[in-house]
Amino acid sequence: MSDTRDYSDKRSFEATPEPEPAVSGNVDLATAPPGSTFMIHQHHARTLHFDLRLEMLNGEVPVLVSWAVPKNLPRKKGKPHLAVHVEDHPFDYGSFEGSIPKGNYGAGEVRIFDEGTYEVLEQEEGKLSFRLHGKRLQGVYHLHHTDDNQWLAFLRSDERAAAEEPPLLSPMLATLIEEPFDDDRFVFEPKWDGVRTLAVCSDETRLLSRRGRDVTDTYPEIGRLHQQLVALQAVVDGEIVALKEGVPSFELLQSRINLQNKHDIERATKSLPVTFIAFDLLYLDGRSVVEHPIEKRKEMLEKLVVPSRHVQVSPSIRTDGRSLAAEVEARHMEGIVAKRLGSPYRPGKRTKEWLKIKVTHEADVVIGGWSRGEGTRADSFGALLVGAYEAGVLRFLGSVGTGFSQKMIAEIMPLLLDLESDARPFGEDPTGTTPSGFGKPLRAPHWVDPVLVATVEYRELTVSGRLRAPAFKGFRVDKAPEQCLYSELPPRAQERS
Ligand code: MN
Repeated sequence: MSDTRDYSDKRSFEATPEPEPAVSGNVDLATAPPGSTFMIHQHHARTLHFDLRLEMLNGEVPVLVSWAVPKNLPRKKGKPHLAVHVEDHPFDYGSFEGSIPKGNYGAGEVRIFDEGTYEVLEQEEGKLSFRLHGKRLQGVYHLHHTDDNQWLAFLRSDERAAAEEPPLLSPMLATLIEEPFDDDRFVFEPKWDGVRTLAVCSDETRLLSRRGRDVTDTYPEIGRLHQQLVALQAVVDGEIVALKEGVPSFELLQSRINLQNKHDIERATKSLPVTFIAFDLLYLDGRSVVEHPIEKRKEMLEKLVVPSRHVQVSPSIRTDGRSLAAEVEARHMEGIVAKRLGSPYRPGKRTKEWLKIKVTHEADVVIGGWSRGEGTRADSFGALLVGAYEAGVLRFLGSVGTGFSQKMIAEIMPLLLDLESDARPFGEDPTGTTPSGFGKPLRAPHWVDPVLVATVEYRELTVSGRLRAPAFKGFRVDKAPEQCLYSELPPRAQERS
């Protein structure tokens, strides 16, 4: 069906940032004098397509004659791509990039995929051949009118320099340090708690794990990542995360990691969708960019990625590591990563140019029991069983097995023996469960009178309300057990339980 409305008919200029035209109507493609500018827009409308625009004159006024090309201009000879002739666009449209608001014609993100000059080689009724001198495309193309507004686009000769194949690389790693810091020689970003992944993108997306395993089939919702990139080819470094209210939950992601069955995976893309958080770029359009400094790579990445539900670019800030750490802690995220400005990407290396700092949360908990240790701690406790009160009942929070010095263990053990009790203080019986969701199940616990209060540090409160990776910090003698409330555990605990 031919749409005879012109550019202005389709748009209301109070509602769209697109430019207003200087002339109306469309030129005759067979006779209009050609100009020299061309561009291709990458248009994330209801469906992704590319808009080829060539400068021609409408009387005295330059305009952009346009075709919507669903699969972009062909990169291979032989198989032509469909090109749908659409309304002429104003010349100023060539520099337009941005977002066409919802409810408007062509609503969605618009990016410039390519731009440059062109020369017409053949122009007659239903035929147009031209040579493109673009940043990405260089070659001779031919457009052939078939029917109504439909044309076919052929590649006649590809004049691009040969591109290297994207290299298979392994991700650069960070060194763990203790404290967040401020330093204007660093850029800081949140540490995304997920699965480190390199996305190798061309006409398809391949996802590679840190060890080079192909995990593309595990995360089908990220399989079209290449369509969200303004590039012919790219290798992007990032993390696959399962977001819950914008915060990654490693626990949720775990139920995705091990799925094998295609049907289970398909279902999980709906119930537990994942997102690729991009934070670095290794390769772009035929060239390795690992030697570029981190700040340059991040700038290129921002221009490369068109964010969507399943792809985002990690935010980052310069200098203020401590304020980011505080923000990350408040949002109950894992930590931050500091990257030294000016540093290249060093594949597979753990360096001090990248530093990771984990943030933790503190809570006061009631000691309600203990489990026997193993090995050198076989004569004492291996872990303290802790809880907090909820509606008058002591709710089991997990077992705390680290953070004790030898001296502490020697001091705590007699206290536990003094307080030994037959009555289980917890509302539920944790025996046989795995308190942190993995590891050995809890066997033969000893109960104690719930009178001791301890401060513990932990990474997150899991969906089932258990402390993840808790460590003992010390006793609190100024707080009564009844004051240790489940509802007062750090933010999000209530939403997550
Ligand atoms: Mn379009």
